[in-house]
Amino acid sequence: MLGWPYWKKNSSWRIALEKFHDALIIGSGMAGLRAAVELAQETSVAVVSKVFPTRSHSGAAQGGITAALGNEEEDHWEWHMFDTVKGSDYLADQDAVEIMVRDAPRAILELEHMGVPFSRNHRGLIAQRAFGGHTRDFGKAPVKRACYASDRTGRVIVDTLYEQCLKMGVVFYPEFLLLDLIFQKQRCVGAWLLDISRGEALRVWAKSVLIATGGAGRLFRTTSNCFGNTGDGLAVVLCHGIPLQDMEFVQFHPTGLRGVGILLSEAARGEGGVLRNGLGERFMARYAPQILDLAPRDIVSRAILKEIREGRGVEGQPYVHLDLTGLGEKRIKERLWEVASFARIYGGVDASLEPIPVEPTCHYFMGGIPTDPDGRVLGDGKQSPVQGLFAAGECACVSVHGANRLGCNSLLDLVVFGRRAAKAMAECIKEAPDLPPQDMGEPHKPERLQKLLQARGPETVPGIRQDLQGLLMDHCSVFRDEKGLLAALEGVLELQQRFTRLGLGGGGRSFDLEVVEALELEHMLVVARVVVESALCRKESRGAHFREDHPQRNDALFLKHTLVFYDGQEVRIDWKPVKITRFPPKERTY
Ligand SMILES: Cc1cc2nc3c(=O)[nH]c(=O)nc-3n(C[C@H](O)[C@H](O)[C@H](O)COP(=O)(O)OP(=O)(O)OC[C@H]3O[C@@H](n4cnc5c(N)ncnc54)[C@H](O)[C@@H]3O)c2cc1C
Repeated sequence: MLGWPYWKKNSSWRIALEKFHDALIIGSGMAGLRAAVELAQETSVAVVSKVFPTRSHSGAAQGGITAALGNEEEDHWEWHMFDTVKGSDYLADQDAVEIMVRDAPRAILELEHMGVPFSRNHRGLIAQRAFGGHTRDFGKAPVKRACYASDRTGRVIVDTLYEQCLKMGVVFYPEFLLLDLIFQKQRCVGAWLLDISRGEALRVWAKSVLIATGGAGRLFRTTSNCFGNTGDGLAVVLCHGIPLQDMEFVQFHPTGLRGVGILLSEAARGEGGVLRNGLGERFMARYAPQILDLAPRDIVSRAILKEIREGRGVEGQPYVHLDLTGLGEKRIKERLWEVASFARIYGGVDASLEPIPVEPTCHYFMGGIPTDPDGRVLGDGKQSPVQGLFAAGECACVSVHGANRLGCNSLLDLVVFGRRAAKAMAECIKEAPDLPPQDMGEPHKPERLQKLLQARGPETVPGIRQDLQGLLMDHCSVFRDEKGLLAALEGVLELQQRFTRLGLGGGGRSFDLEVVEALELEHMLVVARVVVESALCRKESRGAHFREDHPQRNDALFLKHTLVFYDGQEVRIDWKPVKITRFPPKERTY
């Protein structure tokens, strides 16, 4: 390693050591860690994360993880599959959904055996509770399907998987940022990383690479997402000519804490909390008469905004109330501790005594890097796997969530498809060329970094980022129409131009967060562009994508996945069919 202090102000970025691993995983959220645990049984594996691993966003998941265990009441994987497909507004690929829900009970028991401390019911079994859109008997009534650990389910699973990784000798690169992927002869053979703490670029060679970099909720002004969810993996892959799939489907969660967007888990409604408008009415009866407040998120988010538009927000303001006062202090303390503490700390509200002000908040990206059910990235989005490259988790689109994800199905997606991707990587490693590669080429310093270091224009990162977040919030959130989307597109193009006139302070290299944020912003701009362009060409309403100028779902024209390509200048759209196996599309009512 280079000695300390090795960095001279304003000198160029330096290449530190080259590294070699069989498997390289970018992202230490639940998808990345689950994959690492699997791979570490067979091979040498390294995990990269731009934050300390256990601070990854998955740790924030509160409500639970689904599986038709039937510990509280009768349940079956077929019911789980039906709910997931219907929740997706029939856009999910049903072969992938079937794999996920059938594997769910095994995946939960495996986590339990690794040490995840799930909450228990009175029989000593893993406790389960209701979540939006999960029903019994193909839609008849809500069912308790979400396994949980109080309201800290993500935290305990991430910590457990991290411990397993440490036990198995997984190598971590904490606070390293993915700059780019390296390809040789159309095979992914590694990645360029930026060591944030030292300000060095590092080239890592690997026989197979997994992208598990999570979502991009930071594109929007109001979001439940952590600061790191800037769509880095999405943008890097896209810029290598690989398309992204279904990017128009961005989920807004109905109950973000008013003004800040911090999530108040759907578990609150699963435990019996209700939504009320300014008149104190339980208004979901108008929109989902059968399952009321436990309707899927797209429906509840639109219902809230409709109440507000029609003048029934609380005190004429753009928010409604989440009322937990009927649950009692003891139940809130036991099962919704974190929800109550967020309400108290960030909203100044005692949830057991008063209702909590809420508004929809950007939450989850249903779209992402197209993969097959074994995590292989599809280079054309359809069927040609890119050698050596895999994706899993929120950044991937194996398409189990379609146009709208049901609560608690994400964590299941992460552990099921994280594991499957790892198994496929292990196979890929066996037939991969040896390391180091014959031609390592010149260790060119990543051009993006060089450019940014010399950037001395008038524009600032916070200025461009704030405008981007406002633009998408105003024109591309819960309700959309052509006029707004065109304005958003024009705005994003202008912001991409402004980015070329960026100026950075050029300070010290160690923890130069200005550079990190500029790299992230570059990713956000690319991802925003393809979200808007995808939304523009889907002229129908389906799941989370609601076009006010095309308010009906149109299966005749749009029962298909969007694929969006970007060559650095122009965007191109292609389509591919949805895989329908068991459940033909029907009208979606609750
Ligand atoms: C508040 C909240 C609560 C939620 N609750 C639930 C729930 O109860 N149940 C459920 O099913 N789902 C829930 N979700 C959704 C779920 O938590 C996420 O979809 C999931 O955690 C994503 O996991 P992931 O492994 O794909 O990515 P993440 O956990 O987001 O991890 C991404 C990783 O990639 C790394 N990374 C990103 N970019 C780079 C880069 N350029 N270089 C290096 N590393 C990088 C990050 O450091 C991080 O380690 C919730 C989401 C939120 C926001």
